[in-house]
Parts: sequence; structure tokens; C-alpha cells
Amino acid sequence: MINFKPVADSNERADLHIHTSASDGDLSPEKIVEKCLRLKLGAIGITDHDTVSGVKAAKKAARNSGIRVIPGIELGTHSDGIEIHILGYFIDVESPALRQYLVQINEQRLRRTELIVESLARNGIEINLDKIIDKAGNGTIGRPHIAKAMVDAGVVKSYQAAFNKWIGDGAPACEKKSIQAPGELIDVIHQSGGVAILAHPGAEWTRDGIRKLKRHGLDGIEVVHPRHTKKTEAMYRKLAFECNLLVTGGSDFHSPLRKIDPLGKYTVDMTVVQRLANYCERRINA
Ligand code: AMP
Ligand code: ZN
Ligand code: FE
Ligand code: FE
Repeated sequence: MINFKPVADSNERADLHIHTSASDGDLSPEKIVEKCLRLKLGAIGITDHDTVSGVKAAKKAARNSGIRVIPGIELGTHSDGIEIHILGYFIDVESPALRQYLVQINEQRLRRTELIVESLARNGIEINLDKIIDKAGNGTIGRPHIAKAMVDAGVVKSYQAAFNKWIGDGAPACEKKSIQAPGELIDVIHQSGGVAILAHPGAEWTRDGIRKLKRHGLDGIEVVHPRHTKKTEAMYRKLAFECNLLVTGGSDFHSPLRKIDPLGKYTVDMTVVQRLANYCERRINA
């Protein structure tokens, strides 16, 4: 059973794409909830990269507060040279299939971090792996933590310089993440009882590409996103309608220091959340 009660005449808004310190966000789940309460949001989707460890804390912080926390995740891969991010909503965070997948992904992430450290060392930059692991804390380890450790070690002037010079896509010390088939990401979200949504397709996706993902089981498209112009948004809204896909949206918030993705600025209405819940409910009961 999906635990979501409808609010038929609610004027509240929902921000369905939020990162916390459980992955590469700067704010704790508790702080996110506090801020979203102040913004008077009706629901928030906690969608950390490759982890659900922020969901429980957010739910606890939101208890009896009127704000609903939708358990979510953002998984990523590449296909045909395009980066694909898939959001999952209303997932069961205890699902064995999901747990197993996340253990495997996070082992791969650690291995990749080691490869980047080795690559930096070959270029004369010594960064201690443990320092990077410290930066990640209990969360998903990734390049943001490497960049922070590089700043601390004084080998680059800034976080951004670490990406530009060394670890950004195509830079000398960047190592690719392992590649899963897009269908595998969708499957694991379905196995954990959730809906699978293509995140921020931007300008890269073709109609055929999206139809192909739909054949793999894709349930919807993230239409409202800071990277989308009004024109892109309208195009995906139309495509979603034509392909019978759900429509979602959110700010992709990471940090108050990043001006491009302000928390609570990119939202959808509560009927969208209701539709996601109904969709999962129907699939579970099918
Ligand atoms: P990873 O999952 O380890 O590949 O890291 C991806 C994250 O690194 C993204 O979500 C961004 O937060 C950050 N990132 C990737 N590329 C850049 C870049 N060129 N400049 C700044 N941050 C970046
Ligand atoms: Zn991120
Ligand atoms: Fe993303
Ligand atoms: Fe994101």
C-alpha cells in the first residue's frame, strides 16, 4: 500500500527533485525539511544519487508537520553517448532488490574513486583516499567529494577548478562510471515498487529515444526543471501526453551556494504527486 492520502483542493506545491548531504547536496535532510516547511511546500521528493539514506531522516523530521516526504532516488547511466538519469518515486527503501543494486553501485563508485586517485597521483597530485571517504561521510561517494578534498589539500584553487582541470567529464583524471543498461535502472525501481521517470532530458533527447525507454518500462518524464527553457518544457509536456507518460518536476536542488537550482522554485501541483501514488498503487495491485 502506498501511504499517500489525497488533498483534492490543495493549492500547495511539490518540489520532487532534491539532493541532500546523503549524496552531493550541502544540506542535511533535516535542514531541507525545515526550509521546505518555511516555503510552505506540500510535498518533497528526496532524490539522492544512488542512495536512500536521506529518506528516513527527512521523513522523521517531517513527521506531524504537514509536509509529505516522497521516498525517491536518482540513478544514472550512459547509453549511445547520452547521459541518462532516472528518478524513482514511492520506492520501498527496504526493498532487497534495491538494496542489492545500491551495494553493487556503491562498490563500483569506491573503485572508481580509487582509479581517479591513482590517475591524479600519476599527474603528480597526491590526494589521500581516506580524506575523500571522510568528505562523503555515510553518503554516496563521488567526484564532488574528490573536488572538496582537492581544495582542502591546496592542489586546486577552487571546487570548480578541480572539475575544469582534472576530474570533469573528459578532463585528464576523469574515470567513467560503470555502465548499466537503462532498462536495468527502470527495472530496479519497479522491483522496489516505484515509478521510473526520465530526469531532466534537456535538449539531448529525441522522440525515438524516449519511445525506446518507454518500451523498457519508463513511466514518465521530468518536464519542469531549471535546465529546461519554457520551450523545452512545452515540448516535453506535449510528448508526455502523446506517449501517455506521467509528468513531474523539481528544482534538482544541491546547495544554497548554487544559484541555478533554488529550492522550491521549480515545482508541480499536488495532483502530480497523487498521480504518481496512484500509478504505483495500481502496479502493486496488478
Ligand atoms: P559523479 O556522480 O561522481 O560522477 O559526480 C557527479 C556530480 O559531480 C554532479 O552531480 C555534480 O554535482 C558534479 N559535477 C559533475 N561535473 C561537474 C562540473 N563540470 N562542474 C561542477 N560540478 C560537476
Ligand atoms: Zn547531484
Ligand atoms: Fe541528474
Ligand atoms: Fe539530480
